Amino acid sequence: MRSKYLIIGNSAGGIGAAEAIREVDKSGSLTIVSDEPYPAYSRPLISKYLTGERTLEGMLFRPAEFYSQNNIVSLLGKKVEGLGLESHTAELDGGERIVWEKLLLAPGGMPIVPRIKGIGERGVFTFTNLDDAKAIDGFLDNASKALVIGGGLIGISVTEALVKRGIEVTIVEMKETILNTILDEQASLMAEEALRQAGVSIVTCHTVAEISGGGVVRGVTLDDGRGIPCDLVVVAIGVAPRIELALGAGIKVNRGIVVDRYMATNHPDVYSCGDAAEAYDFVYGVNRLTPIWPNAYVGGRIAGLNMAGIKAEYPGGTAMNSLNYFGLDIVAAGMAAPPDEDGCEVLSRQNNGIYQKVVLRDDLVMGMVFVRDIERSGMIFSLMKDRVNVGSFKQALLADDFGLVSLPRELWQERLETSPSRLVPQPAMPAEAVEDFAGE
Ligand SMILES: Cc1cc2nc3c(=O)[nH]c(=O)nc-3n(C[C@H](O)[C@H](O)[C@H](O)COP(=O)(O)OP(=O)(O)OC[C@H]3O[C@@H](n4cnc5c(N)ncnc54)[C@H](O)[C@@H]3O)c2cc1C
Repeated sequence: MRSKYLIIGNSAGGIGAAEAIREVDKSGSLTIVSDEPYPAYSRPLISKYLTGERTLEGMLFRPAEFYSQNNIVSLLGKKVEGLGLESHTAELDGGERIVWEKLLLAPGGMPIVPRIKGIGERGVFTFTNLDDAKAIDGFLDNASKALVIGGGLIGISVTEALVKRGIEVTIVEMKETILNTILDEQASLMAEEALRQAGVSIVTCHTVAEISGGGVVRGVTLDDGRGIPCDLVVVAIGVAPRIELALGAGIKVNRGIVVDRYMATNHPDVYSCGDAAEAYDFVYGVNRLTPIWPNAYVGGRIAGLNMAGIKAEYPGGTAMNSLNYFGLDIVAAGMAAPPDEDGCEVLSRQNNGIYQKVVLRDDLVMGMVFVRDIERSGMIFSLMKDRVNVGSFKQALLADDFGLVSLPRELWQERLETSPSRLVPQPAMPAEAVEDFAGE
């Protein structure tokens, strides 16, 4: 089979690219391959599937007819096993071969699973795709206690779903605080408090040394010898970029697939985006992994435009999360806890359960954390994204009445001229916005 464009991965990045290609080239043959058997669904909503709040249909972020309407061949439930760069080919698991002209690698990430004793017991799960949610769902009838290894975004997401299903949950986190890659210590402690209030037990500074069972999970033993009984274990210690195809083909890989500002790899006909790729981070000023949905989608669009012959540059993304677990609103972006506090100026305030912090370096916003009162986070994020020098009004950033009038006149005039929409404070990707992808 021949396809002018071949996209590996049918999610945020892959769909972003397909849409951009079709804006430019209506008829060039386009194939999307995914080893998941479902039309494109919103991955962040798998927790809502587990709670029963969403069905698969309610998670689709494009209609099921998207493929036929856009003249796209979708090969779902098929895995690409190898690539030939010289021959411009991809080998599928059934032995099928696709000859392509332009290729996008949007294979996302794979959950990291530690090699500990008992990891193969029935009742041990990961939580990164719909099949994981289905598998856990099918196991819950006879379960009352779960242990979640890892207190990151995925661990907290599955914890909330399990609590809503009436399961008692213990989280075991190796570091001192949960959500430590996203939040600073203060915000993490506030999140921990919200989880504890909801009845979740949290063990920090420890890890699971062994899962015990004898066919099916019965409990775990921690690294200090403590035993915790449980009926299921969810491994949520992180996600690694799926780089195996790129590596096998000789495409340049660091921690993720290395791309330039046009989302091209070191091979001129091969592009990459999303959780698998190391793309430009505008806060750090370097390429790094920023595995969030909007970055995957925008990166995919830029890749697609370039694949179709339109030169387009990725504006850059950064780590940005908007959470609402157990009713606690949190927005965090960029360097929430900068590694070298010395070179940074930190503005913060805390009262009545509200915590707000903005991290500056050379009068540029490098990071932010907002807990509970998140209303102005969108505006701070836009100052951060546009690399605005906030030196002349930084003391106003956390004021109750901070708004457009706090900005110097020429700044908001300039922003009005270049983009009127900027004047409307944009929420910094609230959790509902990720859900909205499902409804588009
Ligand atoms: C539980 C959970 C909650 C999340 N919550 C949020 C959130 O609130 N906000 C946010 O911004 N982000 C969130 N994310 C992250 C977000 O889902 C990812 O950043 C986004 O899905 C990345 O998109 P992608 O296109 O790069 O890859 P993915 O969505 O990972 O999709 C890649 C696809 O490619 C397929 N594939 C891989 N290799 C092959 C192959 N060889 N052959 C065929 N198919 C292949 C995979 O099976 C997969 O279907 C969450 C993720 C999880 C798991």
